[in-house]
Amino acid sequence: MKRKRVLITGAAGFLGSHLCDRFIKEDYHVLAMDNLITGDLKNIEHLFGLENFEFYHHDISKFVHISGELDYILHFASPASPIDYLKIPIQTLKVGSLGTHNLLGLARGKNARMLIASTSEVYGDPSVNPQPEEYWGNVNPVGPRGVYDEAKRFQEAMTMAYHTFHGLETRIVRIFNTYGPRMRLNDGRVLPAFIGQALRGEDLTVFGDGSQTRSFCYVDDLIEGIYRLLLSDYAQPMNIGNPDEITIKQFGEEIIKLTGTNQKLVLRDLPVDDPKQRRPDITKAKAILDWEPKVSREEGLKITYEYFKSLPVEAFANTDHKDFTGYNK
Ligand code: UDP
Repeated sequence: MKRKRVLITGAAGFLGSHLCDRFIKEDYHVLAMDNLITGDLKNIEHLFGLENFEFYHHDISKFVHISGELDYILHFASPASPIDYLKIPIQTLKVGSLGTHNLLGLARGKNARMLIASTSEVYGDPSVNPQPEEYWGNVNPVGPRGVYDEAKRFQEAMTMAYHTFHGLETRIVRIFNTYGPRMRLNDGRVLPAFIGQALRGEDLTVFGDGSQTRSFCYVDDLIEGIYRLLLSDYAQPMNIGNPDEITIKQFGEEIIKLTGTNQKLVLRDLPVDDPKQRRPDITKAKAILDWEPKVSREEGLKITYEYFKSLPVEAFANTDHKDFTGYNK
């Protein structure tokens, strides 16, 4: 039987690479695309020898050409951590807007179904908790996170317009904080930051007083939710995340326990517009996709810690994370 063909953008990134694995496992033909600004070929090099895997080094903000048929497009190209989109704000805006437009055009030309990676950041610093899909958000367009948040909001609007105006088959997943193997050690996110600090024997930097909350989803659970959403017939935005909410201070304490280190938590200034609370309402995912997360934080953190420990020592020597504190002022 002919394999279905799926294009995955951001394929060398954290989530993109796990998606590549999943679609290879399901016996699809995977066309992986990445411009490698924040992605890393190491995440997908184990797939290079496969006959049903191809890699294209391309920036999707420029015209995207694919020969042959396409059944699905999964658009996961974008810097996704505050430290990244502060360093490359214009690319972040372009990949969410121009890049999405290019892929929607491609999807239309190929009659492919397109799923876009949106984010809980569309809710900004939310005034309701947990956040249901109907909540419109509280976003500062000109703050440091605006380049990401507004690009993703525009991306949703553009995708919905192609759906309603052109009848394109589209899916929108709003991804909440996700963790697991292949996260970049120096992307500034709280989990790699804390584990990196613990392994280097440094204190863990808690921003603000650590009372802000996040809800962390293990990557395998997220990928399962995305896979189900793609194959469903639901075109409205859908939250996928783990509703197990925790303060950042508690999270730091868990990491210290996990790593068995004696480090302390030290307080640093809170970054501008840092959301005070975040927790997905997953009523829709449960009802429509019959999906809910299965991996507990204890289990998921153990696997992730083993992954970080297996990295070469040099990986821990220098991180850009220190630069990030500059932005807190
Ligand atoms: N954070 C922290 N210390 C760090 C890095 C992040 O306390 O070294 C906090 C950050 O201020 C935020 C939370 O951890 O409140 C999650 O940050 P992350 O960058 O992982 O993702 P976000 O959910 O803010 O996009």
